[in-house]
This record gives sequence, structure tokens and C-alpha cells, in this order.
Amino acid sequence: MNNQLIKWSHKEFDELPWRKKRSLYGTLVSEIMLQQTTVATVLKHYDRFLKVFPNLESLARVSEEEVCAQWQGLGYYRRARNLRKAAVYIVEELAGEFPLTLEELKKIPGVGDYTASALLAMGMNKKALAIDANIERIMARLFLIEEEKGPKLQKFLQANYEDLAIPFKKFSPREINESLMDLGRVYCQAKRADCPLCPLRKECKAAESSVSPLDYPRQKQAKKKESHDLELLRVIVTHGHKVLAYEKNDKEWLSGQLEVPTLILRTTDKKLAQYPLFEGPKDRVERRVITSLKTAITKYKIKNQIVMLTKAEFEDLVDLKNLNKNYKYYALNDETNHFSTTTHKCLAKLNIKVTS
Ligand code: SF4
Repeated sequence: MNNQLIKWSHKEFDELPWRKKRSLYGTLVSEIMLQQTTVATVLKHYDRFLKVFPNLESLARVSEEEVCAQWQGLGYYRRARNLRKAAVYIVEELAGEFPLTLEELKKIPGVGDYTASALLAMGMNKKALAIDANIERIMARLFLIEEEKGPKLQKFLQANYEDLAIPFKKFSPREINESLMDLGRVYCQAKRADCPLCPLRKECKAAESSVSPLDYPRQKQAKKKESHDLELLRVIVTHGHKVLAYEKNDKEWLSGQLEVPTLILRTTDKKLAQYPLFEGPKDRVERRVITSLKTAITKYKIKNQIVMLTKAEFEDLVDLKNLNKNYKYYALNDETNHFSTTTHKCLAKLNIKVTS
């Protein structure tokens, strides 16, 4: 069946100009053009570009602007600049000869792991796997590899290349790489897998099993954000144009700001220590709720239940000695009193104006 993959790849794609007339320079140009660009687009430009710059020397001796002008229609001009830099480096530092090892190839400006492996495998027909998103995807599906997409999977593929390549061992590195790339473009796409038509369907573990090929390669799970509901009692006690409040300390949210007495009525976060728990009779205090207000801070979705009490009622409902809060009256028209935004909003709900 692998024969069918290779045969299909030869039949359909041997006419690609960079495969029809092979050279390391042609492989370098085509691989750089094909990054983030479809084969169809590259086909419109490759032959023309090679006519203008038929070899490394012709590319190395012109300016960046001239190369970019010939790159028009391909976009991502950084690739054009890198390609020229690579040509200059090979011509000037290596006497125009491509190096023959992965490590030396990676020293060429703009040539990373992928392009160096592509030059080895497809340009030189040496044992290497040019791991791009296509090959990651196909290998993960073929062998149901559970490693997460990205560096982990790439490392796994490099480390296990020999074993993974066993089903392909009678084929050349060039054939393996090119046919898998073709498969990734045509049948085994990121969001579509045409398994019934795929030449590898009989060897493919994803196609054979009950899993969906589209679930491979495994994606990193986005960490679910922790969130909590919090119901707070906001107690408004006024005295003339003053309101009972306390200054928040350094360990509290919004430290230094003034807040009206606030107690926890309910929360899904048992560890929350920002406010004291209301330990009095809930039904009694809830009967006094005038209005409520929704707010949020960090991971908490807060429902603020606003009550208006006299000082005596407040002291009757709450054991102030246990709260360890320094409640005092603060003038609402003193601009040195910095009430918190929620305090402003709670007061506004009761039509109490803060004029500071
Ligand atoms: S059989 Fe399906 S999942 Fe497997 S390589 Fe082919 S298209 Fe991809």
C-alpha cells in the first residue's frame, strides 16, 4: 500500500518545477517560497524567479530591493530578504557550495531545522525528516501519537524517526518526505481527512480505529480558568453626610481605599479571606436588602446585596468585636477620602452622593 502512496505522489506531483529539475538551490528557493504559501501560488512565481535568479551567485550579487521586487505576489518579504542573505553567505563564506550536514546547514542565515532537513532529505536524498505541520499531523494520525502538537511532538518524531520510518523503509528519504507532504496537502488536511481516498488508509491507525483523525495531533488543552461566585453584604450606615467605612489594609484588594462594611453571605471559595463571614441571621438581613449590584474582581463574580441600617441595627446583626475592622464615619464631601468604586456604586444605588 505504501507503494500506492509513492506512486500517487510521483504521478501527481513529479511535474512540480522544483522536482522536475532538481538542484539544491531550487530546493532552497521552493522550500522558502512554500512557507505559509500554497503550491498553487508558488507555481505562479517559481519559474519566473528562477529565470531572473538562476543560481546562488545571481541572487547574492543583487540588492535586497531587487530580490523583493521579484518576490511580489508571494508576500512575507522577510523570506525574500533571508533567501538573499542565505545566498550571500553560501557564496561568500562557503565558496558557493551547500554544506552537507544538518548542523552546518543550520548556520546559513534564515535556515532553521525544517529547511535544513528539507535540504538534506529532498535536496540531497539523505536520511532526514523535514517536520512541518503536515508531517506532524500525518505521523500523529498514522501512528496515533499522543504527544502534544508542537515541540514535544517534533522531538518525539525526530527521536523515533527510525522506527516510524519502518513502513516506508524501501523508499528514499526524498520520496518519503515529498509523498507525506503531498498527502498532507491533499487528503490529510488539518480540518479534513479524506480517509476513504487516502493511499495510506490501510496502514493508518487513526483510520482503522474508532477515533476521529481530526483529534490528532493532540492539542494543548487550554487551562480552564478558575472562577467563583461570591455574594457580599454591603452595609450602608450613614450619619448626616458621613458614611461608615474602613480603610482596606495591604493584604486586601484595593488597599488604602475606603469601603463600606462588607461581609460574605455566600461563596464557592471556602478559602476566601478578603472579607469576614456574616454569621448572623441571614433571613433577617436578607429581608432588608434594598437593591443589588453585580461586580467582578479577579476570579470572583460578585453579587453585592445592599442594605441600609442604623448603627444600632448593624451592631445588633454583626459582632463587631470579632471582625477586627476599624469602622469609622467618613465625610462624603471630603476629597481626601478615597472610596472604592464599588462603594461609590453602592451609594449611588441608594441615591447617596459622594461629592469628594
Ligand atoms: S487514512 Fe485518513 S487520517 Fe490516515 S493518513 Fe490518510 S487521510 Fe490521514
